[in-house]
Parts: sequence; C-alpha cells; structure tokens
Amino acid sequence: MNQVHGNNVVIVDENSPKLIEDADGIITVCKNLPLMVMVADCIPILMYDEKKGVIAAVHAGRNSTFLKIAQITANKMIEKFNCQAKDIKVILGPSIQKCCYEVNLELENIVKTSFGKEFASNRYIDLQGINKKLLNDIGVENIEISSICTICSNKPYFSYRNDKTCGRFAGIIMQE
Ligand SMILES: [Zn+2]
Repeated sequence: MNQVHGNNVVIVDENSPKLIEDADGIITVCKNLPLMVMVADCIPILMYDEKKGVIAAVHAGRNSTFLKIAQITANKMIEKFNCQAKDIKVILGPSIQKCCYEVNLELENIVKTSFGKEFASNRYIDLQGINKKLLNDIGVENIEISSICTICSNKPYFSYRNDKTCGRFAGIIMQE
C-alpha cells in the first residue's frame, strides 16, 4: 500500500498492482497473495476469517484510527464476502502504546468526546483501545493486542518517534 493516513480500504486480487495507491487497508480472498502493511509506531492490524477465507492488512495510525479504518475494513469483509463478525480474528502488532503516546490537550479532549473518557488521561491516548472498541461495536471480539510498545520496549522494532530516519517493519498476512 502507498499508505496515506486515510480510511480507504481496497479489495485486491492477483491482477492488482503490487503497490496499491491511496489506501490504508487491503482485503483479499486470494490464496498465496501476501498483504503487507508497513509501520513504525502506527498499528499494523491483520484480520482473518478462516471460514470464508478472507484476509486483510490495515495501517492504523492516529488519523486512520480516528477515521475508523479497522471498523470499515471488518465491515467490508462482512458486506462483500459474507463474513460474520464473530469469525473475524484480529491481531494488533507492536506499536506506540498509551505509556508513550503523549498528545496536546485539544487532541486528548477530541479522543474523550469522540470515543470515551477511558481512552485518554493526562495527555496520553490509547489507540489500541480505540481500535478494539470500534471493532467490538460491530461484534468483532476475537482481538489480540501486542503488549510491545515501539517507543519504550527494548525489542527491535522501528520507532519513528525515536528516530525520524528509521526504517519500517511490516505486518504480513497470506493464506495458502
Ligand atoms: Zn511505551
């Protein structure tokens, strides 16, 4: 994906270009077609419905999270491929967590009024919690969240906030 921090979700197949322009979510039913999301602090989200054979990769930074990209992606799996919310498994990979995600007061208030008081406190916001809530709201409950924070853990994941010249790591999903 040429990720743009939006909420455009594209369904792809073998004939799609290798780089999907203007997208932060991609979905496919094709086998042996890996989907990739690249991140450094943003949340890489992977989704899988084993019953219907549908997979998705999502780039959920702050903006895309606020634009409900996780919910939009799962809804598209449900609408286009008859997935059931309860069958969709979701993994949120290593990313900036509430221990380190400091924002200004205005943003903190936006989070509290848009999503709930529990997702912000003392200028720190919980993007993973917001994505989980947005998925829970449409019945997706099977969600695994990595406890690794890209900013403060000693694990070898790139962090843009720590180093503006850093590389990216990737979340990749493929069905055989
Ligand atoms: Zn942290």
